[in-house]
Amino acid sequence: MTDQASKEVIKDLRKSLAWLDLVLATLSEGVVVLDAELKVVFANDAIANMVGKQRIMLLGEYIWEIVRLHDDKQPVSKNTFLKLRGSNPKEALSGIYQLQTNPRNLSVELTSAHIPNTEHTVLIIRDVTDQIQTHMQQLKITEEAAARRAAEVSERRLLIQYEVASLLAKSFDQGTTITETLSIVCKGLGWRVGMVWVPDKHLSSLQASSWWPSNTNNFKGFFTASTKLRLLKGQGLPGTVWNTLTPSWSKDVASAMNFPRKEIAKEAGLHGAFAVPLLNGIEFMGVMEFFSEHVQERDDELLKSMATVGMQVAEYMRRTTIEKVTTSLREQRARLLEINEAKDEFISLASHQLRTPATGVKQYIGMLIEGYGGELSETQRRFAKTAYESNERQLTIVNDLLKVAQVDAGKVSIRKEPVDLELLLNEIMNEQSGKFKERRQNLSLVCNSKNLKANVDGRNFRMAVENIIDNASKYTEAGKEISITISRAGGLAVISIKDQGVGIAPEDTEKIFQKFTRVHNSLSISVGGSGLGLYWCKRIIELHEGSIKVESKLGEGSAFIIEIPIK
Ligand code: ADP
Repeated sequence: MTDQASKEVIKDLRKSLAWLDLVLATLSEGVVVLDAELKVVFANDAIANMVGKQRIMLLGEYIWEIVRLHDDKQPVSKNTFLKLRGSNPKEALSGIYQLQTNPRNLSVELTSAHIPNTEHTVLIIRDVTDQIQTHMQQLKITEEAAARRAAEVSERRLLIQYEVASLLAKSFDQGTTITETLSIVCKGLGWRVGMVWVPDKHLSSLQASSWWPSNTNNFKGFFTASTKLRLLKGQGLPGTVWNTLTPSWSKDVASAMNFPRKEIAKEAGLHGAFAVPLLNGIEFMGVMEFFSEHVQERDDELLKSMATVGMQVAEYMRRTTIEKVTTSLREQRARLLEINEAKDEFISLASHQLRTPATGVKQYIGMLIEGYGGELSETQRRFAKTAYESNERQLTIVNDLLKVAQVDAGKVSIRKEPVDLELLLNEIMNEQSGKFKERRQNLSLVCNSKNLKANVDGRNFRMAVENIIDNASKYTEAGKEISITISRAGGLAVISIKDQGVGIAPEDTEKIFQKFTRVHNSLSISVGGSGLGLYWCKRIIELHEGSIKVESKLGEGSAFIIEIPIK
């Protein structure tokens, strides 16, 4: 090459370098060229600005002394810089770092490369602070938007719980309320179908009891198939919930393993599904199941909030079921009371109607026997006597019926007065002595407490005691003993009427005080009776705030014990 030519080349070269210098000066990226020891041999204006020093000051400095980098956790060490000398400098310092400068730290992105055929490395440092800030802001906006969306979702779910709770609080018709609940949940979540499954009365399978939407043809086939199904524990989504008593989720029932309605769900366009148990405490009342038209990823928060709805529904079902039963029982009771009243009225009316003619018959047969109608033959007298006795028995029954009807109708008024019990018992015994003599039974009275007075209705209380003594005689064989004892126990007068009769079996001791109850024994046929006496006695004694009980042994005898307040 001639001198002139080499001068030209050098001139061109200078020109190019000047251009290169200009270009490098205008670059916003910092450019540093490092020698084999990683000392700066070239630095452009941008890097000088970044580190806050003059370009000239950078030359000959080790790179780690002028470019102080930090990663997330700590300062980047000299050793890391030294890796720039390796075969792949890009791997040594790539990515985003914090560049420590005055007055503010910058976020920088580093790229490095060897300059071919030299031992030099070029390091390009790009200030990405603004980009990172913008990115962070965008991230924040996105995060805020996501948080807002999550808040909206949970607000919507809370609203569903609130709407369901207010519906359940005011509704009584179970059927429509449950359907309405399904509709609230579906509309609130934007899901398409809701169903409720309840166990059959043997608790052996689940069957569909309610569904929503009911007035659409879209899911008719799905509902028909569902209502025909009986799901066992563990079968399908409802069966799984029944088995575990916890909510269950299916991302897509149309492809689920354990979903018997898979095909029909696919046809209906139903995919994502979940189900929650209807649990009232530990009592399982059924399952609530929901379907979406889309494949749905499991959402535990949704399951949790719907499990709460499930508990609300279960509590509602229990409450309304109890209310239904209570109402029905109340109605039945009212009907029974009406029937009972009608029956009491009938007994009272019928016995009045029967008593008048029976009393007439008694009078006229009595007159016949007394000979007011002329002398009777022996046979005629015998017939008339039998008729008289039968009529007497009938009159006793009619009288008993009337007495019971009156006490049941609350028409017995108790007029209390102090009565000396020993006197009263002596009077009764004297009056009945003929009967006892006739039956060859011995009747005795022991009074352990003298002058014992009780406040009783003279007439009714006396009839009750007479009845018990009469029973003691009726249900005791001839020749046996009946003993009466009067004593005092605190504020109570105690009258015990003890016989050596046929006795009463333990299982009958309560029954004998019930209306129309006659217990069969060896004497019950021959002595006859209405089964009303003890019922009436008990009611009368209770009207005195007293009590009556029996202690008895079959075949050995009974003791009827009356307790009555003294004052
Ligand atoms: P009735 O004597 O008219 O059958 P009660 O109401 O007076 O009706 O008695 C009910 C039943 O109680 C009687 O049928 C009888 O079996 C039993 N009973 C009552 N008193 C005695 C007694 N002292 N000993 C054994 N059984 C008795």
